[in-house]
Amino acid sequence: MLYRLNGVVALLLVLAVPAWAEVRILACEPEWQALAEVLGGTPVRADSATTAWQDPHHIEARPSLIAKARRADMVFCTGAELEMGWLPLLLRQSGNRRIQVGQPGYFMAAEQVERIEVPTQLDRSHGDVHASGNPHVHLDPHRLLQVAQRFSERLVQIDPVQAGYYQARFADFRQRWLAAIQVWEQQAVPLRGKQAIVYHKNWSYLLSWLGIDVIGDLEPKPGIPPTSAHLARLLRISRQDQPDFILVAAYQDDQGARWLAQKSGVPVVVLPFTVGGSEQVDDLFALYTQTLSLLQPGP
Ligand SMILES: [Zn+2]
Repeated sequence: MLYRLNGVVALLLVLAVPAWAEVRILACEPEWQALAEVLGGTPVRADSATTAWQDPHHIEARPSLIAKARRADMVFCTGAELEMGWLPLLLRQSGNRRIQVGQPGYFMAAEQVERIEVPTQLDRSHGDVHASGNPHVHLDPHRLLQVAQRFSERLVQIDPVQAGYYQARFADFRQRWLAAIQVWEQQAVPLRGKQAIVYHKNWSYLLSWLGIDVIGDLEPKPGIPPTSAHLARLLRISRQDQPDFILVAAYQDDQGARWLAQKSGVPVVVLPFTVGGSEQVDDLFALYTQTLSLLQPGP
């Protein structure tokens, strides 16, 4: 490119255009970063706003995060109000039109699938953080596959030049994921009818897929930490019904769960919950595989 500038001819060097136009994705949680990477392959640069050690309901829209949102071509979040405490602010502060609500660059996983536990009556004064139904959809592999398909279609819409590449990656993922589901569902047979006490309704999709019954929740209401009266009630239930485990996510405070375990003899099982929640869990396949192995009855 030649420009005549102040009488001198200036040569403007144009940077070599890479073979792939990069698609920058800001995921809200590690599971969606992992899904974006496996479906997006080489052209996609995905980042996550939270780690497995943070509670995705509550984080701060830090300046570093705002900078990432400013550059993103797409946000890939859970939606269904999971991030309502910080995502709207992040989007507003980013000043990035591509990722605003209704744009192709705004993609919410929980809005692509049918949600459970949709409240018929809502009272936010009781701390109900799941006003649009349970948003924690990523631990049902069938719903995850639906999300994957919709996400892949969105990727094609955003980067149509690579359509064939994205479609091939989705087909490959789908095949591997369906094969893995068969293995997991075999491993889940002995878990049917087991009973769990949970910490938060993080586990609802996973447990309903596995056929495990929830007989108590350490949170009296989603988002409300356990009170001593509530713990005492759970202790009575635990002694009476002897559930098989108390389930806690890697990021959660396990104090209440440990207390209950000590008093009732019911074991605490800490599950990774998302990618990065334990050392071995570096992708979505490993997340499910390890979750199922941690739930298996001991020898
Ligand atoms: Zn929640």
